[in-house]
Amino acid sequence: AKSWTLKKHFEGFPKTSDFELKEVELPKLKDGDVLFESVFLSVDPYMRPYSGRVMKEGDTMIGSQVARVVESKNPTYPVGTYVVANSGWTTHFISDGKDLQLLPSWPEKLPKSLALGTIGMPGLTAYFGLLEICKIKPGDTVLVTAAAGAVGSAVGQIAKLGGCKVVGCAGSAKKVAYLKQIGFDEAFNYKTVGSLEEALRKASPDGYDCYFDNVGGEFSSIVLNQMKRFGRIAVCGAISVYNDIVPQKGPYVQAPMIWKELYMEGFLVTRWTNRHKEALQILLRWVEEGKIKCDEHVTEGFEKMPAAFMGMLKGDNLGKAIIQV
Ligand code: NDP
Repeated sequence: AKSWTLKKHFEGFPKTSDFELKEVELPKLKDGDVLFESVFLSVDPYMRPYSGRVMKEGDTMIGSQVARVVESKNPTYPVGTYVVANSGWTTHFISDGKDLQLLPSWPEKLPKSLALGTIGMPGLTAYFGLLEICKIKPGDTVLVTAAAGAVGSAVGQIAKLGGCKVVGCAGSAKKVAYLKQIGFDEAFNYKTVGSLEEALRKASPDGYDCYFDNVGGEFSSIVLNQMKRFGRIAVCGAISVYNDIVPQKGPYVQAPMIWKELYMEGFLVTRWTNRHKEALQILLRWVEEGKIKCDEHVTEGFEKMPAAFMGMLKGDNLGKAIIQV
């Protein structure tokens, strides 16, 4: 097997030299074991902040994949079976069958890579963040950042299905056009807009009932002042600060939270693990029925994983960033 390892802990924005490709000899299978080959791998923002917390230098990079059984001594996983696994950046791995998720019955016409995107962890994040934290209701105005990404594009479309008005921000003209195409009511490029405050006000002069926050940092403190009274904020991600070496100072959230009586809650998608299966069925149905569009940014070649990861952190991806082995 080939595996990408963390050669050196990231300092600031990740560099090519922080990663090392290693060849690993896999042992023979024991009874109960299954040999998998990765078919699609995922690069996700969490790998940046989590690497320092859960990995040591030399470890295989954390991450999930859609993998296929190539050899099996476990009747639950015959050859050819597809699963979602969390085995890191590796081409092949052996599992004893625990901690694997079988793909639900998968329609022929849908790429299995969607199990790493809209019909997977990012889609679940959008679903539970909107329903359980933002508690959307018809007529709400919802703002979402990193809107053309894996989570954000699902957030916007699920909010539309819920009868909301949706405003999205993203980092290029192409992404803004895409957001309009998939049904966002308003969208703007936060990099070229000049005054964020004005752009937010123009997109929704009455303010926002819900903010699905994927970026954190200065942007989100500006949003706080544009919230309506009793507005709800789902703090999902903070990609604008993941690469900071020195933590940013303020502005601080307390004053607008008091004056506007806001509700703000951080969450991890794992909070609802016992409901993931049921939610995945709903997401799968929406995708099959064409109610949610899910684009992917596919990089071919396992060798390109670090480049694909760094590209995603910079915003190269429209839709979910995927690696096809
Ligand atoms: P995306 O597919 O959205 O890719 C990341 C995107 O972030 C880039 O494409 C880029 O788009 C944008 N971005 C990068 N830097 C900045 C910046 N400084 N300011 C604003 N936007 C920036 O990734 P995901 O959909 O997988 O994740 C989105 C967020 O959700 C992340 O913060 C992630 O950590 C979080 N998350 C949280 C989970 C949870 O359980 N709480 C689970 C999954 C994800 P652009 O061109 O628009 O800048």
